[in-house]
Amino acid sequence: MSKIWIFDLDDTLHDASSKIFPRINQSMTAYVSNKLNISLADAHQLRDKYWKVYGATLKGLIQNHGVDPQEFLLNTHDAEELSKFVKQSHALENTLKKLKGKKIVFTNAPLHYAMAVIKALRIQKYFSGIYSIESTNYNPKPSLYAFRKILKQLGKRPNQCVMVEDDLANLKTAHMIGMQTILVSKLNKKTAFVTKRISKIQYLTREV
Ligand SMILES: [Mg+2]
Repeated sequence: MSKIWIFDLDDTLHDASSKIFPRINQSMTAYVSNKLNISLADAHQLRDKYWKVYGATLKGLIQNHGVDPQEFLLNTHDAEELSKFVKQSHALENTLKKLKGKKIVFTNAPLHYAMAVIKALRIQKYFSGIYSIESTNYNPKPSLYAFRKILKQLGKRPNQCVMVEDDLANLKTAHMIGMQTILVSKLNKKTAFVTKRISKIQYLTREV
């Protein structure tokens, strides 16, 4: 039985924390402030609240303010601007080349952004599918709904899948439904729901 490799995108296949996430964050707060006609400080506070309640700013905006999700995602993820911060890596490419089995990307980011990042990394040809926030009706990981939705679209069972991720909460759901889990993290955060931990994505082929 060949494996299906499910890769998270940001902070798993490339570094998003240092330059990309701060910019997306800023854009989201500015968007909320403009859209709802509130101060940046109030927008920040509201986003914080929606993050706690819904797991994402967008969910809260859809449910409470009828915001158009595509308008929000296009306004907050300027793919052209953000992909300038993506560093192409031969090590990443070699890892994906060596890894046997079907590979897909499963991200909480919007599709246009995910495609731009994958293109900037020059790794499009290794993936047979990109599953974005649009693929799960705007329900982000770690929701069970998001995982079930992806599995249904893939036509696969959880025990055929390996989830490769930097986020522990997402791996917890993956493990709970029966996937193997690989944590990509420099910190020693190995827990009961992490099958293996690697400090960098390019060490993946050493472990399998
Ligand atoms: Mg991530």
